[in-house]
Amino acid sequence: MDVPSSSDSAPELAPISKRPRGAGSASPAVRPSPRGAAIAAAEKYVHAADSDDEVIRFHGRDAGTSSDSSEASAESHCSYDGMGGLSKRQPARTTAHRRSYLITWPHTDDATKKKPDDYTKEQARNMIFQCYTPIPRPTLHCTVAERHQSGHGHFHIAVNSTDPYRHLDLTARLRASGIYVRFDEFNSYFEAVRYLQEESESKDATTIDPSPLWSTGHPAMRGLRRISDVPRPRAEPECDEEGAKKKRDAGKFTEGDLYDLVCEKGMKTALELKAHAHVDRRLVLFCVRKNDRLQALIDACLEIAYARDALRQSTMTRAEKLDDACKLVCTCATPCGWIAAADEIFASNDIDPAVYKSAMLAAVLHGRGKGRNVFLVGPGNCGKTFLLKPLRLIFSHFSNPVAGGSYPFVGMPGKDLVILNDFRYDVRLMKWSDMLSWLEGEPVRLPMPKNFFNSDFEYTSDAPIFGTGKGRLVKVDGGHVDWMETHMMDLRWWVIQFRNAIMNPVERPPCAGCFARYIRSA
Ligand SMILES: [Zn+2]
Repeated sequence: MDVPSSSDSAPELAPISKRPRGAGSASPAVRPSPRGAAIAAAEKYVHAADSDDEVIRFHGRDAGTSSDSSEASAESHCSYDGMGGLSKRQPARTTAHRRSYLITWPHTDDATKKKPDDYTKEQARNMIFQCYTPIPRPTLHCTVAERHQSGHGHFHIAVNSTDPYRHLDLTARLRASGIYVRFDEFNSYFEAVRYLQEESESKDATTIDPSPLWSTGHPAMRGLRRISDVPRPRAEPECDEEGAKKKRDAGKFTEGDLYDLVCEKGMKTALELKAHAHVDRRLVLFCVRKNDRLQALIDACLEIAYARDALRQSTMTRAEKLDDACKLVCTCATPCGWIAAADEIFASNDIDPAVYKSAMLAAVLHGRGKGRNVFLVGPGNCGKTFLLKPLRLIFSHFSNPVAGGSYPFVGMPGKDLVILNDFRYDVRLMKWSDMLSWLEGEPVRLPMPKNFFNSDFEYTSDAPIFGTGKGRLVKVDGGHVDWMETHMMDLRWWVIQFRNAIMNPVERPPCAGCFARYIRSA
């Protein structure tokens, strides 16, 4: 077991002056105070949580799976807020990162869940800590067992970690292993420990665990004070407007919260965000404030989330991307529907699949050049476009320059390859001689918008060109075919000729993994 061993001897509580939050001098008088009332109410809550229903509702909410009913039920519950006050439980808190929590594992009658009664303190703590990975385990902790009047036991573990973390994923991992616990947030670990050791209106001395299980090397906690004796921290006077604004903003839903939410829920649109907003009033206000920019903000969050992948993609060669794609599993039924359809197309056109595989692989690996660009020629509906589709799943690509626009190739630089669907030569796109140079692998000058580029762009990328068309590219001059120029064009393509249209073609989705392995087998 790699959970740190523990000593059973209870360290004394630290002097009040060593508490992380200064709380001033404590009144020695033992009397009910707002803080004492808070503890009493929190105790009541914990005991109420002995009823299974309560716990399920709370956890449905905590784990981010709240529904309208959980929303409604949570409204009626309160929890100790670590500030000595009893606060309505705010869903917003689920996004907070904390170093200190009080974990409560209440009794349950649900046979599908693990019961605290079946475990010792040490076992309970170890089981919970095992689910921490990848979050580093708490460095300070204190585990106690308490018994409710019903006779059932429950555990509390006060935990403190070096770095703050969110408990949401942890809660989900615990639930997956049958342990339904609740995380309460405390301002400091020491307050959580005091709460466990403190007598209160609803927790008499006999309920308090006389022998908590402490983490190894737990600091001494001498001079325990009643929590009820600790005055509530005085609010800082709001002396200036900026201070007041800062304070108001502290509770606002921020762009950082949005990023967490977008990553957690996989949201892509402003509509999805708005549909989710009802769970958190701060999010509602955020949506109202940023209504015009919501989509842009979500897009920015997604870009950041995927930046590492995008950076990696941008530095990979086509060969590396093809090899990566070879590792993808088939996305269609077994055997692969895409390969079956491709083989059918080749059979009905009397084409050896090896020709297609070799042509595609050579173009991908070696780039544009004489005889290396792939041109699939034939009548409509014979599967030409279908055979190029998987390229779009694996590589960044530029397709179909628009003749007549001022900058038909503006999107081409930086792309892995070029796809020209149903292509026919148009002089407005590019001069014939430039087209020959481009296909041959020579640098070509591309007209570019002057607001982004100082001058025309010299395109040197070796991105191969894949095309489909009804026929060869023919140079016509003054109504006559220039056979010499047309022959020059032919030399720059690896032409695969199709003749037979497919009757009633079945729509088959492209399959990146199978396509990559298919052409790799050339
Ligand atoms: Zn497949």
